[in-house]
Amino acid sequence: MKRYHTSIADFLPTINFCLPKALEIPYHVYSMKELKTYFIRTYGCQMNELDTEIMAGQLQKKGLVPVGDEEAADVLIFNTCSIRDLAERKVMGKLGRMGRGQKRHGIIGVTGCMAMAKKDSLFRKFPHLDFVLGTNNITDLDVILDEVLYTQSQVHKTEDRFEENLDYLAAKRDNKIKAYVSIIRGCDKFCTYCVVPYTRGQEVSRPPESIVEECKKLVDDGYKEITLLGQNVNSYGKDKPEWGCLFHDLLHKLDSIAGMERVRFMTSHPIDITVELMQAIRDLPSLCEFVHFPIQAGSSRILKKMHRIYTKEQYLEKVALLRQIVPNVSLGTDIIVGFPTETDSEFQETYDVMKEIRYSLAFIYAYSPRKGTPAMRWKDDIPEEVKQERLQRLLELQEQVSNEERSQMIGSTVEVLVERWNKDGKTLKGRTRCWKKVIFEGDASLIGSLQQVTVHSFGHETLIGTLATKPLIIHK
Ligand code: SF4
Repeated sequence: MKRYHTSIADFLPTINFCLPKALEIPYHVYSMKELKTYFIRTYGCQMNELDTEIMAGQLQKKGLVPVGDEEAADVLIFNTCSIRDLAERKVMGKLGRMGRGQKRHGIIGVTGCMAMAKKDSLFRKFPHLDFVLGTNNITDLDVILDEVLYTQSQVHKTEDRFEENLDYLAAKRDNKIKAYVSIIRGCDKFCTYCVVPYTRGQEVSRPPESIVEECKKLVDDGYKEITLLGQNVNSYGKDKPEWGCLFHDLLHKLDSIAGMERVRFMTSHPIDITVELMQAIRDLPSLCEFVHFPIQAGSSRILKKMHRIYTKEQYLEKVALLRQIVPNVSLGTDIIVGFPTETDSEFQETYDVMKEIRYSLAFIYAYSPRKGTPAMRWKDDIPEEVKQERLQRLLELQEQVSNEERSQMIGSTVEVLVERWNKDGKTLKGRTRCWKKVIFEGDASLIGSLQQVTVHSFGHETLIGTLATKPLIIHK
């Protein structure tokens, strides 16, 4: 079994090539020159996708190239998620199978939320694992690889404190049309079902100059859509009052970048959606009219138990105000059914709120307890079949609402950012400003451009249209 220790970087400012000799650690099988390829498997949210792009940038700076096959990679990284039990089980299963098979010749690492939650305990379960790197330490990936190579030990670095000097500009993006840009990391809200505050730490905003610099570069490189990322983007800047730049101020700065076409953001906490933000959505041409506004439950008692810090009434008031200020806004939501002690009538409140608000998009989940969360202390007392029945009712409601919304759009002309060929290889696919999928006939030259498309019908989750001869924007 390999030795393991915390990162040498914890007590040495840098790693240098004298280190193995200085520590009398024998030089082993690998050298950096022999590491030629990498593969990163990403689980979970867009934050993880962006972290993967940042790590890929670091590896490519070191001269490694991506390969499309886990088995062939000299460095194999699992960038993990702890939010859902299924994502965690998938990684654990994969790592377990790798340990039972023949040892790979390369290096295996775990990054992301699971790394933060389980830390070095992963080494006990998976002796063939080489490193564990937390979400706040991905900037140390190259140092960690050096340590693994020179010490032949298992290395972990999982600090709670956020490393503010991430090399965002080095991120390697596969997508050349749309880009994620991180603006704030961590979360201070502590919802009782969520591990994020424990795995990603406190909220730390990124300096506005750094964000503007990255966005300008992306626009210069031809990117048409930028999605600002954070666990709670709309608390941006609150941790740094000396900057005088809150979320809506940042949006104004980004909108003034010449050539900026579309800006989106995710995800939001309802409590931090301000009037100034609503006005920015109304006034800034680049800002898309779609807000992810996660309610989680329709009962004020359950919301209190979830520590969502708003009541149903406060939430509904905010939605009404947003719709008054931005009449053409589309709303998305997250909902959890079967939270501990949720009664039938409390579930019915969630159903009624969903019916009243008519979301364009809803991510609906059955509750499952997550280790390390306050809710873990409570009995998971709603039977699985009841959770599934509630889930099914909400899914059916959402399907009905979405279909009605799609049918109302027939005959309207929408702006579409054309992203790629559809699966059929004959039609093109893109999204409207309000995040609706659209397919239409066209040629490859349209990929990466904004087009006006007139909707003539719809299918499962998709609007179907034809290129408009004249740009008539009736419906966003
Ligand atoms: S707002 Fe709540 S659900 Fe969202 S990341 Fe923070 S703790 Fe988790």
